[in-house]
Amino acid sequence: MKNKLIKNSIEYTIEKHPKIKGLQIIKGKNNFPISWLNQQGYCEYSLYLQYFKGIKTAPTQAMIIGTAEHQKLEDKFKEDAVPTTFNEVLETSKEEAAISREMFVIAPSLGIRGFIDEIWMTPDEFVIIDDKPGRIPYPSTINQVLAYCLGFKNMLNDDKRKIKGALRERGTNNLFWIEEFDEDNENRINFLINRMQGLFEGSKPFIPTKNKNKCIKCRFQSYCEHF
Ligand code: SF4
Repeated sequence: MKNKLIKNSIEYTIEKHPKIKGLQIIKGKNNFPISWLNQQGYCEYSLYLQYFKGIKTAPTQAMIIGTAEHQKLEDKFKEDAVPTTFNEVLETSKEEAAISREMFVIAPSLGIRGFIDEIWMTPDEFVIIDDKPGRIPYPSTINQVLAYCLGFKNMLNDDKRKIKGALRERGTNNLFWIEEFDEDNENRINFLINRMQGLFEGSKPFIPTKNKNKCIKCRFQSYCEHF
């Protein structure tokens, strides 16, 4: 597969949400980073503390290691990556498979955006990969990759190639979870995205986790009234 570096081609007018840090308003709709779904699965209330209350904490060791490993993969990929556009690589990948990293996906109508760690675009299918530490497919990480699949699907016009979401053990080739982005998965992630929009609009409450083991490891515990 050829390495292709996709340049973002569509530009939107972006407004910052007046109260929620990191939330943008694009085409009149609240638009949040897909990575927030991972945090939502850990504990919804931590989203409230970080983005509504603006609480900042030092990055954890796992976060520091994750960022460094991510950068290493990115640098290696760029060594021989050829610049292209989204439309161009969609077309050429019908004949010749391509691989890209850090591809930006955005769906203003759904209110989501984010960067796909890696995508394989082959004549038969698209495989959207998120790199994670470890080998456990947590519901939160599955949700995250399903949202990338949904965002990506929204950027396609009439391309009917199959889309698959996958989780890979960071730094290895081990895809420890892979599933087709079918109707069930699409419904599942649409439901969750609607819930997220409800949190931002104030029609739904941020629910704290009941799992005290999560609280013990939580970087927000000293700010949290539920700890
Ligand atoms: S301490 Fe527990 S309830 Fe509070 S934000 Fe952290 S994980 Fe959630």
